[in-house]
Amino acid sequence: MSAANQEQQGKEVIKGTAIILRAGPICDDCLGRAFAKLGHGFSNRQRGGALRTLLSMLGVDGKPGTCWICDGLFGRVEDWADRAVAASQGIEFESYLFGVKLSPRLSQMEAFFNERFPTGLTESLKHAFNREVGKAFEAKSGHGTVGLTNPHLSFIIDLAQGKIELRILPLYIYGRYLKLVRGIPQTRWPCRHCRGEGCKACGFTGKQYLESVEELVAAPFLTAAEAEEAHLHGAGREDIDARMLGTGRPFVLEVVSPRNRCLDLPHLQSLVNASAAEKVQVNGLHFVPRETVALVKETHAKKTYRALVAFEKDIFPETLTEALESLIGTIKQRTPQRVSHRRADLVRERCLLESRGNLLSPRQAELELCGEGGLYIKELVSGDNGRTLPSLAARLGVASRVVELDVIDVTSESFPDS
Ligand SMILES: [Zn+2]
Ligand SMILES: [Zn+2]
Repeated sequence: MSAANQEQQGKEVIKGTAIILRAGPICDDCLGRAFAKLGHGFSNRQRGGALRTLLSMLGVDGKPGTCWICDGLFGRVEDWADRAVAASQGIEFESYLFGVKLSPRLSQMEAFFNERFPTGLTESLKHAFNREVGKAFEAKSGHGTVGLTNPHLSFIIDLAQGKIELRILPLYIYGRYLKLVRGIPQTRWPCRHCRGEGCKACGFTGKQYLESVEELVAAPFLTAAEAEEAHLHGAGREDIDARMLGTGRPFVLEVVSPRNRCLDLPHLQSLVNASAAEKVQVNGLHFVPRETVALVKETHAKKTYRALVAFEKDIFPETLTEALESLIGTIKQRTPQRVSHRRADLVRERCLLESRGNLLSPRQAELELCGEGGLYIKELVSGDNGRTLPSLAARLGVASRVVELDVIDVTSESFPDS
């Protein structure tokens, strides 16, 4: 900037400050905010104080009283920081961010101030307040840095309500689970009668099933993280009566509002595996970003199944082999009867990629079937009264049904461990 321009700007700043000072009582923070883009390394309070001193020397004195714009808000920065420190007591964090909800009155005053005194150098009240509270919080709590994306702690100061709300960033842990027994649902299943309230039918547990993979996996994490809630997001789900074996099914465990976030995952893995011993096992645990939840849930992974199948009449080995080979390709499936009450009735096409098996007896076979995500295996075998075409039953001309089903592999190149 040339000397002439500097002189010109100096005159404008002095003139602008004089107009603002004459308009009503104003705090140094708000006065400094109006010239926030002037100079570096000063706080707004320092800027405001310097301008006030300069103008006083020139004979223009500010009016006494509470700041008409912020109503003394900047004088309460330390109080808000104290409340934030109290709210975050005992919680592990590295990064934080403050947000503020202005009261309608403050919003109006701020808008009016900006409109009446457009210096072109103003910093918004929200921006300035959030930064000042953050600085005070960091000084008082002794650690932490501002995290603009995914901060561990988010404080929302609601000025109209006079409240401070603390949100803790959840933890996301990726891994794979094995379900070694039948009869356990993947996630907590609220009682059909009371919807989780607790009633006679569910023995006041609020649950349809006493245990779930979710609860068995989450338990040690809730203790270690001092959290009350966790959700298991699976890459699809097996039927309650199907086991999940082989390499396991990918999942992300979301631990809500963890007070501790430095978890020893190998230790927790061994705790889950010891406590849920004969039922559920987990492996490959590691922390992932939140985006992995959507990735795991939405990926249509390829799945391999082992099915124990019963036939109504005797089958020859060659007939079975031919029928299984002929099934490879596109399968048209109308939504199965057993799930039609909760899913839209439509016809979907899914590919059966591999299909083999052998007879254990003339009326029983063990099959290994690999299909695209979404292929219904029980219906592929039974035909579901003609709703699945082709089917093993139709190709054999003999009624067939799955007696036992295990998922033995879930694969996709999208998974974090592939
Ligand atoms: Zn003010
Ligand atoms: Zn109930």
